[in-house]
Amino acid sequence: MKSINRRKFLSISAIAGASAVVPQMIGNKSAMAAPIDDKKKIATRMLGKTGMEIPILSMGVMRADNPAVVRAAYNSGLTHFDTAHGYQNGKNEEMLGVFFKDKDRSTFTIATKGKFNLRSDNFEQEYEDLLNTSLRRLQMDYVDIFYAHAIGDTETINNPRLIKMLKKFKDEGKAKHIGFSTHAHKPAQIDEAIAAGIYEVCLVSYNFKLNILPELDAAIQRGVDAGMGFVAMKSMAGGVADAEAKSKVNGAACLRWVWQNKNITTAIPGFTSFDLLDNCLEAAYSPNLGELDAKYLAGLKETELLFCQNCGDCVKQCSKHLPVPDIMRAYMYNYGYKYPSLSQDTLIELAIASNACSGCEKCTVTHCSSGFNVAGKIAAITPIVDVPSCFLA
Ligand code: SF4
Ligand code: SF4
Repeated sequence: MKSINRRKFLSISAIAGASAVVPQMIGNKSAMAAPIDDKKKIATRMLGKTGMEIPILSMGVMRADNPAVVRAAYNSGLTHFDTAHGYQNGKNEEMLGVFFKDKDRSTFTIATKGKFNLRSDNFEQEYEDLLNTSLRRLQMDYVDIFYAHAIGDTETINNPRLIKMLKKFKDEGKAKHIGFSTHAHKPAQIDEAIAAGIYEVCLVSYNFKLNILPELDAAIQRGVDAGMGFVAMKSMAGGVADAEAKSKVNGAACLRWVWQNKNITTAIPGFTSFDLLDNCLEAAYSPNLGELDAKYLAGLKETELLFCQNCGDCVKQCSKHLPVPDIMRAYMYNYGYKYPSLSQDTLIELAIASNACSGCEKCTVTHCSSGFNVAGKIAAITPIVDVPSCFLA
């Protein structure tokens, strides 16, 4: 079924108020949507030494709440699905559990992620409970990859208590492979992970806007040489150029740019609709970066998008030393991803108040590598912490 037909169908369904018809339509799609010719084949790559061979396009399930989109992705040949314990307060894992319940376990791989608090005396029990809860929601005995989620510094990678628990998860067979996800200090973290010796996969922010590409590519190469596999996230640098989302980034070009690096096994764009899936598939069926794509991306190099480089320069400049990169990520979740509840969760976790900048007569953050008006963005996002969560999607 071609996307144009599907769109037409959806619009007809909407006009008829026939929402119940949508799953039925997807049912039809599922019967016919497996890749049928060479043009519809998606290249695969090995993920380090895990033995996992996966398509270069995977699904970041994070914001998806429609199992029909997961089904469409699966039936289009995608096999790797990425979620996290915290996404949608567990509903994301639950949705995957229901969808994959009757599927052959050898036809897909699942990654989930878990945040942790090493300051807690009870860390070990809490982390074990977290993974057990994820497995229960997923209705699975094991996940293919368990990531220590969003490690923000270098030292934590090698923390003995964390390492001990990750090893335990693997030894017990609850996690086939161990990884970590990172937004910051990426090259140093990769080197630390190589030294730790237990990390098999790194989920890393990777896109054409990164200022530290030479250092990051070199670190990724060292990781690959040591047997690690790399999965790309934030591939579309926030997806939009402005808070009103009037100017969208061409996601297919961004993905093709990522796949130029053969050390990146797969990318996990977070598509939530059939149109966005189509856009990603279009790229995956024809993955080489063409001249037009390259020109388009070069033209965006100096344009301010929502992606924060996570360089940390602003933290030193801020008179209150606010965790600005994390606040910028919350801004991107809300204005770029249209995922306000994740934005709120991120800020609450950091104990950021709705008036975080109050008392500052003049912002001392005068230079940002992404060109952001940092104080303006903070003022535009922090009030979300006071919104009752029942109002947020
Ligand atoms: S206005 Fe906000 S970001 Fe700027 S220095 Fe003050 S607290 Fe930091
Ligand atoms: S200076 Fe700008 S790009 Fe760097 S971490 Fe701060 S907000 Fe992000």
